[in-house]
Amino acid sequence: MEYRILGKTGLKISRLGFGGIPIQRIEEDETRPLMKQLMENGVNFIDTARGYTVSESYLGKALEGIRDQFVLATKSMSRDRESMARDIDISLGNLRTDYIDLYQIHNPSIQQLEQVMAPGGALEALMEAKESRKIGHIGVTAHSAAVFELALAQPWVETVMFPYNLVETQGEELMRRCTQQNVGFICMKPLAGGALEDVTLSLRFIANNPDVTVIIPGMATEAEIRQNLEAVCDDRPITPEETAKIEEIRKTLGTTFCRRCNYCAPCSAGINIPSMFTLNGYLTRYGLGEWAKSRYFAQEHTASDCIGCGVCEERCPYQLPIRDMLKQVAKGFGG
Ligand code: SF4
Ligand code: SF4
Repeated sequence: MEYRILGKTGLKISRLGFGGIPIQRIEEDETRPLMKQLMENGVNFIDTARGYTVSESYLGKALEGIRDQFVLATKSMSRDRESMARDIDISLGNLRTDYIDLYQIHNPSIQQLEQVMAPGGALEALMEAKESRKIGHIGVTAHSAAVFELALAQPWVETVMFPYNLVETQGEELMRRCTQQNVGFICMKPLAGGALEDVTLSLRFIANNPDVTVIIPGMATEAEIRQNLEAVCDDRPITPEETAKIEEIRKTLGTTFCRRCNYCAPCSAGINIPSMFTLNGYLTRYGLGEWAKSRYFAQEHTASDCIGCGVCEERCPYQLPIRDMLKQVAKGFGG
């Protein structure tokens, strides 16, 4: 396993980290074997969030007695001082620890990041928690380049987490600046929220970029951990065959695709928006038409139920034209 220094934090972390979103899907007692597997293979960075329902508490229980083997990162959507202070204490309780290595401001907009930094904002609580050794370091996570850039201009920002994968390379210039400014770069969405099927190629592409400090694919099974380890530990440069395949994937997927982050929820018409796009992918890209149709028509609400209110589009961090995309999905499924 290769290790890197996580920017200004000075923390020595493995190139592969554990993304804590998918453990929401498994049982609590299935989490500990995963932690042991990570430890045995030298993976020492774990990222979770207050917003990932049971993820913090599953991890807290699974890490009992071995917490010191890991660098723990979590994050909160709180923007004001009082609620951030409360969230930090909840995270500490859930994670069953008295110290969190990295606490991140979770996906603020420009206005929200300004609120965080204003008097009475969440940054005050983070600074106080740092002072009292409840947390070690402070980072920001972002989905838009404008927020990434604003975060990079702040001297207190020690890490930035941003999507980066073979079809989302819009952050590359800012990632270069992270290296120049000694800010740790944490790569989220390495598989574009599941849209990229070739896990090995996707992770090898990212691992070949020296500006990436750590890659955090979500993992919930031992097989996924094994596959991710193999890909990230393979330090051969990208081959011409792989480059051709990357170009092919870029052509097929484009940039207007759903990353399944679910920030658009709740839909006014009760549609599970990311599921519509996932099933459409099975219908149009993966030759699983019949299976996709049976799943699609089993949903309580489908794409054709969209009333066009547009609130989902205001929430989507990728500015996807969700209404138009749903119209295409409805057409593809025949209503
Ligand atoms: S525009 Fe359609 S999909 Fe979006 S929230 Fe409104 S009803 Fe739901
Ligand atoms: S439509 Fe946008 S907000 Fe909703 S899940 Fe997809 S990428 Fe996320």
